[in-house]
Amino acid sequence: MKTSIFGLTLEQLTAWLIDKGQKKYRAEQIWDWLYIKRITEFSQMNNISKECIQLLEEHFVLYTLEQSVKQESADGTIKFLFKMQDGNLIETVLMRFKYGLSVCVTTQVGCNIGCSFCASGLLKKSRDLNSGEIVEQIMKVQQHLDAVKKEERVSHIVVMGIGEPFDNYTNLMNFLSVVNSQKGLAIGARHITVSTSGIVPKIYDYADEGLQVNLAISIHAPTNELRTRIMKINKAYPIEKLMAAIDYYLEKTNRRITFEYILLHDVNDHVEEALQLAKLLENKRHLSYVNLIPYNPVDEHGQYQQSKPEAISAFYDALKKKGINCGVRHEQGADIDAACGQLRSKQIKKTAKETVK
Ligand code: SAH
Ligand code: SF4
Repeated sequence: MKTSIFGLTLEQLTAWLIDKGQKKYRAEQIWDWLYIKRITEFSQMNNISKECIQLLEEHFVLYTLEQSVKQESADGTIKFLFKMQDGNLIETVLMRFKYGLSVCVTTQVGCNIGCSFCASGLLKKSRDLNSGEIVEQIMKVQQHLDAVKKEERVSHIVVMGIGEPFDNYTNLMNFLSVVNSQKGLAIGARHITVSTSGIVPKIYDYADEGLQVNLAISIHAPTNELRTRIMKINKAYPIEKLMAAIDYYLEKTNRRITFEYILLHDVNDHVEEALQLAKLLENKRHLSYVNLIPYNPVDEHGQYQQSKPEAISAFYDALKKKGINCGVRHEQGADIDAACGQLRSKQIKKTAKETVK
């Protein structure tokens, strides 16, 4: 199976072309066609030699994703369901904010981390997405925007769809390089956020990359006892190891970290936990932001319910009183099940049956 040309960084494409006896400057020309002019066929590149186009056609395809379903929410959120070459289905979500258009991408088919509240983790990982498949999600959404002709552009990316990005590290890094490159989509690193459940060794690697890309940590509980109960990854990487990795990251990058905290009714939403969380973050208050996420109920995880509004306010107030920067995430696309981080396996199966032959 040929892979997507969107998976190659500019350096990789340049090296590939040189290896094939082509001129080095071709790489930038090709990237201009791919990311600025946004062609759909290699043959549209009219300043590239026939020979070079043939070479590309022999080794790569442009798009491997096929749009299967598109659902638009009342608030403008759009959920795309894409079919990959091997028939697997993935979801991508476009969200509209005052500050721009943000796309939430999927990095794996399923997820092996298996957090107890998450719909994505219900399906064991069947494979990693390659970097081309991750980049294509952005390109496909951008093509949709191009077709609407409002000259809108994807300005932000959150790596918060199905999968654990740090369990697909190399492809994630290539993806970040492509979307961030000035010669490509040029989406600013500070406009991109990668969310991890806390794969400690990869946090060290990520700190060493010297990127300006934002990091979000799914913390969800302030003590090992509670965190292990809801996220089994905490057994392998308990809070003290996670915090040591975070301290290393902060020291290296001096960049603010977002801590995601899903509020689960009567599980982790008491003021006591807010105070424990404040204590945990005490020494890094100036570089922390806590994003309180109202839990999206998942049918298969009936043991959890959404926190009561009073509990959410009390939790928020307790953090604020301790000087912790925090906010409550506003839900997007709830009416189409498109809330980021809650791309539902069941919905995929159901929609797939209805629409894919
Ligand atoms: N695997 C990564 C990124 C994908 S999940 C991670 O866990 O960080 C993105 C975010 O959505 C995480 O913070 C995750 O905990 C959250 N999430 C998962 N299931 C959710 C649900 N049912 N309701 C609200 N947020 C959820
Ligand atoms: Fe995987 Fe993230 Fe869901 Fe946990 S919350 S199962 S790490 S996608």
